[in-house]
Amino acid sequence: MTEKQQVVVRFPPSPTGYLHIGGARTAIFNWLFAQKTGGKFILRIEDTDAERSTEESIRGILESLEWLGITWDEGPYFQSHFIKDHLAAAQKLLDSGHAYKCFCTKETLEKKREEARRKKTSLQYDGTCRNLTPEEVAQRQAAGIPYTIRLKVPRGEGFVSFEDIVYGIIEKRYEDIEDFVIVRSNGQPLYVLSNTVDDIRDGITHVIRGQDGLANTPKQILIYRALGAPIPKFAHMSLTLDPKKAKISKRTHGELVAVQFYKEHGFLPWAFVNYLALLGWSTPDSREIFSKEELIEAFSLEGINRANAIFDVRKDDPKFFTDPKAISINTHYLRNLPVEEIAPYVKTELEKAGIWDPAYEAEKQAWFFHTIDLIRSRFHVTTDFVTAGRAYFADDYPIEAKPLKKNILKHKGLKQWFPELADRLERLPEFTLETTEQVIRDMAEELEIKAGILINGVRTAVTGQPKGPGIFDVLITIGQKRVVERLRKAVALFEASSPL
Ligand code: GLU
Repeated sequence: MTEKQQVVVRFPPSPTGYLHIGGARTAIFNWLFAQKTGGKFILRIEDTDAERSTEESIRGILESLEWLGITWDEGPYFQSHFIKDHLAAAQKLLDSGHAYKCFCTKETLEKKREEARRKKTSLQYDGTCRNLTPEEVAQRQAAGIPYTIRLKVPRGEGFVSFEDIVYGIIEKRYEDIEDFVIVRSNGQPLYVLSNTVDDIRDGITHVIRGQDGLANTPKQILIYRALGAPIPKFAHMSLTLDPKKAKISKRTHGELVAVQFYKEHGFLPWAFVNYLALLGWSTPDSREIFSKEELIEAFSLEGINRANAIFDVRKDDPKFFTDPKAISINTHYLRNLPVEEIAPYVKTELEKAGIWDPAYEAEKQAWFFHTIDLIRSRFHVTTDFVTAGRAYFADDYPIEAKPLKKNILKHKGLKQWFPELADRLERLPEFTLETTEQVIRDMAEELEIKAGILINGVRTAVTGQPKGPGIFDVLITIGQKRVVERLRKAVALFEASSPL
């Protein structure tokens, strides 16, 4: 019995910008596949484009992966450290006759292409240097003529064929592949060579990458073959498009497609991984919520869809700042995970807003957990805790303009009623759901007004918000002292505002 080969996958981003959702999705699919199969996941940084690669981008990519909880078993390896290997492979290809030196100058090639364009014939390299004798090569080299190295693509009938796990059988005729360059005349290996050599060195068994890699695959297979290396399996993933069917890109969509943006805008990392996993992958029952274990269990490369995925980027929608499904999945986790799991994210938001109190991790922890649980039922993202939820954690909270007008300023009587209510609440020996309700209802009755007028006014005054959890829950959570102070202070709202 032969031992089953261990799966080895990789994620090799080019560090030319932040980690965007397409890249994150690729990383997630590779990671899931490795987790599922007990395989190895290697992180590689393809930094050979020195002009466009930046340290900052490398840091950003690593941080985003860490935030998502995508862990790797090896790496990060840097492609630029392996250029010697890439060139050694090119030499091996030269030695075995699978590649040749091409001395054609840029000008000659351009002239020939121009000619071909005019005559409407093939633009491919015409193979001028394919059959130079060793003496001719030696002569040209002795004369110091610069050369590129080209792969000798098989000629005649026939094609490169492979079975992509997502797209099925793909064939490319030899005659449609020119003898492509693998090393530039300045000695730099081309990406198609470097990427392949790295995959061979790392023992990659499955190349799971974006559909844009598909154009390179036949060429890469020719390199594998020429080097006598085993050919991995390929799974290319569909594109991620915006609702107008434009490809999601840094250039068009800016920060809205950066993983970092979602971290900063209150997404829970697992919720975002769960959402991204559904971009172009699904189970037959179209299930949407998966714990980590469930997602690993359910994942398969066969479940990757051929159809392009849609990411509903929204810039100017007042209701959603991003894809509604992403929001709804985040909302699900935010409202349903155990409070202890949400608490660290709330802490981060409070710290960022400068309103974190260390007592929330000590004597006030019970209150902190209770408050999170109470207010999260209306929240979608963790940043809501410091926007809509600010009044629970700080005394300087804004009062929204609309409810201020509708629930406070419109009812001029509140100017007298607030201080009176504050006095009555202050006198309560016990500040409970029942006692606070009693006070408010009694007072409304005495004044012969609807309790709702007091309730809405109080809610707006003490939280700044028109809506929220049950008002008596709100009052006892904010606490007697703070409620009393806020009601007394609310009187000033009438002075500060211009007459209606
Ligand atoms: N560095 C390539 C990219 O960022 C990776 C291509 C591959 O996975 O082979 O698109």
